[in-house]
Amino acid sequence: MIKKLVSIVGARPQFVKAAAVSRAIARMPGLTEVMLHTGQHFDEDMSDVFFRELGIAPPHYQLNINGGRHGEMTGRMLIEIEAILVDEQPNIVLLYGDTNSTLAGALAASKLHLPIAHVEAGVRSFNRRMPEEINRILTDRVSTWLFCPTHAALTNLAHEGIASGVHHVGDVMYDAALDAVRLARVESRILRGLDLAPGGYSLATVHRPDNTDTREALARVLAYLQNAARERPIVLPLHPRTRAAAKRLGLTFDGLMVIPPVGYLDMAQLLENCATVFTDSGGVQKEAYFHRKPCITMRKETEWVETVDAGWNRLWGSDASSTTRRDIPEYGHGDAADRICAVLVGASD
Ligand code: UDP
Repeated sequence: MIKKLVSIVGARPQFVKAAAVSRAIARMPGLTEVMLHTGQHFDEDMSDVFFRELGIAPPHYQLNINGGRHGEMTGRMLIEIEAILVDEQPNIVLLYGDTNSTLAGALAASKLHLPIAHVEAGVRSFNRRMPEEINRILTDRVSTWLFCPTHAALTNLAHEGIASGVHHVGDVMYDAALDAVRLARVESRILRGLDLAPGGYSLATVHRPDNTDTREALARVLAYLQNAARERPIVLPLHPRTRAAAKRLGLTFDGLMVIPPVGYLDMAQLLENCATVFTDSGGVQKEAYFHRKPCITMRKETEWVETVDAGWNRLWGSDASSTTRRDIPEYGHGDAADRICAVLVGASD
């Protein structure tokens, strides 16, 4: 029997994860995929470029739902996703990470008694002010298969009493990063375009609501980066939320090399050649490690504790980074997506 999966994506980090898993699904006899894009991120810079560069087939459904408050956005998605799942009657609903699209998919599927596979299960920041934390906890609660990227994720689920269907498979973002770095070396022109020399700049990303939603928080981030930029130029591909927040709050990016959000191949090129990474992104913290770059995380906590333990990542407010750094084998060997598909095709847990 061929199993039909409906994959639900909507935001930038999910396109990266879905690229790795979709490719593995296409290789795996016995699985077929219908992709649903909620439209949470929607324009060329935040969505289309990822589908094109990463070779993801165009989504079968595009809901174009974005903007509004969390309840409104999630509610509109829930209505539309439910109708599509009723029509499609998939064997499995495949969800990624921790966005409102993830939660809407989880609610719709679980009420229809459709089994859910959650990629990046068990990840926790223990900060319930983060909308992502709520989305993760609730999605894990109703998932049949919980695919964990790390040992910490396994432990988190065990503490929440979730044992059935839990698999440590490694990190699909590592699969994606391995593919991208090879392509980026050939195809990306971003260093030349920005007149940057390898090792001559640092890379920053900022978009978490905790860092962008108040004047005080965003001013603190910008002052920190502006100070660091005196030592070495900082390239800042600017998330639309941060751009809008700065405008609203009357803050400027003086002293920083602000560029529009970049595609994943340009991002891989920027990561591979930078000196240091400054970020509040979950994905970028890990990618800094994948490229073996020291990272400063502009937050007080992280979901990716192994990057701190291994000496690659330092949180704001903690002591200076360790000078001894070690590898993190638990992210796997670039075969996390294949391992997920093997479990799903066998439908064992
Ligand atoms: N990313 C990108 N271009 C950018 C900024 C980020 O391709 O201008 C990629 C980044 O490399 C990572 C993903 O987007 O793979 C992370 O997404 P984001 O930081 O938006 O979300 P988070 O990981 O924090 O959920």
